[in-house]
Amino acid sequence: MPELPEVEVTRRSLLGRLEGARIVAVHLGKPLRWPLGIDAEELHGWEVVEVARRGKYIWLALRGAAGQHGGLLIHLGMSGSLGLLGKAPPAGVHDHFDLVTTRGVLRLNDPRRFGAVVFGESMLAGLPGKLLENLGLEPFDEALTGEYLHARLKGRSVSIKQALLAGDIVVGAGNIYACEALFRAGVDPRLPAGKLSKPRCTRLIQEVRAVLGEAMDKGGSSLRNFKDAHGTFGHFQLTTFVYGREGEPCRVCANPVRRIIQGQRSTFYCPICQKK
Ligand SMILES: [Zn+2]
Repeated sequence: MPELPEVEVTRRSLLGRLEGARIVAVHLGKPLRWPLGIDAEELHGWEVVEVARRGKYIWLALRGAAGQHGGLLIHLGMSGSLGLLGKAPPAGVHDHFDLVTTRGVLRLNDPRRFGAVVFGESMLAGLPGKLLENLGLEPFDEALTGEYLHARLKGRSVSIKQALLAGDIVVGAGNIYACEALFRAGVDPRLPAGKLSKPRCTRLIQEVRAVLGEAMDKGGSSLRNFKDAHGTFGHFQLTTFVYGREGEPCRVCANPVRRIIQGQRSTFYCPICQKK
């Protein structure tokens, strides 16, 4: 599943190339998760004015020829990838959305079709507004402080791992990144969220940022190896301390890494290095 770093690297790959492009045509393939929400022909002549991101959504801000505002909210679902193609071959069986522009064809390839492309008058309106309204802060938002996290976790008995993963406090800490950040911060993933002290909250945020930042950097470098942006990035080759390493020696204390299930997801952790 594409995680926030993959989505951010995709966004960066489109910046500059797509901004200023005018929409020539919109081709829809098989239905995605939700309908487009506008007659595709109405978008002809609209200009892409910004390529933004919120959580794992990309927002293409658009301006119509008559000055109308709007945008397309794009989610890659479980298996989607976006490519900007100079010369697009005919759409394949898994290509379900083409935005044909004066700067190339933005194509969504999504074999499992959990992805979505949805029009809204703004990020706050219509279906985009609904999809985004419960998202937590961006990981690099200055408002995300130890104090903020501490206040939001107060009284919550759910485990800190699940509180991170829920995405309603901070977005982007997907399963790999949550496991790795908790390891680096020395926090036992089973700790009830409300019991994490303020200093440990501050440390945890630092580690969430560090892990996501590293993944973005790795993605950025692997992206340059692609001849075009069309391809499945998969998970970036982050060197993990614990994720996917059940039974292997902890890279710090050499004790075996453990795997448990929390909220139906695997959690990997070191019972020595991570404390309650
Ligand atoms: Zn250890």
